[in-house]
Amino acid sequence: MPTFTNTPPPNPRGHTLSLIRVTPGHTLVGVITAEDLIGCHTHYWHGRTVPCETPNCKPCSEGQPFRWHAYVTFWDPTTAKHSLLELTAATATRLVEYRLAHGTLRGCYFKAQRANYAKNSRVLLDCKPADLARINLPAEPNIPSILAIIWNIPDPAIKRTTEGGLGNAIETLSDVADTSRCLPVGPYAEALAHRLLAPSPGNGE
Ligand SMILES: [Zn+2]
Repeated sequence: MPTFTNTPPPNPRGHTLSLIRVTPGHTLVGVITAEDLIGCHTHYWHGRTVPCETPNCKPCSEGQPFRWHAYVTFWDPTTAKHSLLELTAATATRLVEYRLAHGTLRGCYFKAQRANYAKNSRVLLDCKPADLARINLPAEPNIPSILAIIWNIPDPAIKRTTEGGLGNAIETLSDVADTSRCLPVGPYAEALAHRLLAPSPGNGE
């Protein structure tokens, strides 16, 4: 007899989310599920966005320009879909202002749209606290793990088991910073974890 379940088995690498960018002519609305944004330098290289892996970065060695991008997860209550939003540094500044005002980004209802029909026109971002009594927000995913899947690089949050194989445990972001408990897999993961977890210059750490 098969063992029937009503939920798919967990993916060993964790589940990923669709990466969403604000496109001209569309208004994007959602409620942020992450406590904070996470950002790093990226390159547009061979037709896709890849993380900058300086000091050992192939796009950098080929003189490719880099840009900083921010990532936050959001929930669309109307479609019940959880997605990952990519924003430029200029647009992310609005979220930093919101975080300073409210202490967290989680529960921030936003409406994002381009200022005009140009692909690279400014993104207008309206933010206000959502009525969380009416929305059942999903738990905050581990954004570095999701990015590792999208970018096809080793997951900085996967630790090795005592047998030496890759464990399935997806650690929380704070656990990743605890290097005594977590052995990042390879120099890519180390560089990514270092950059994603580095204290921001503004917080005095
Ligand atoms: Zn680079």
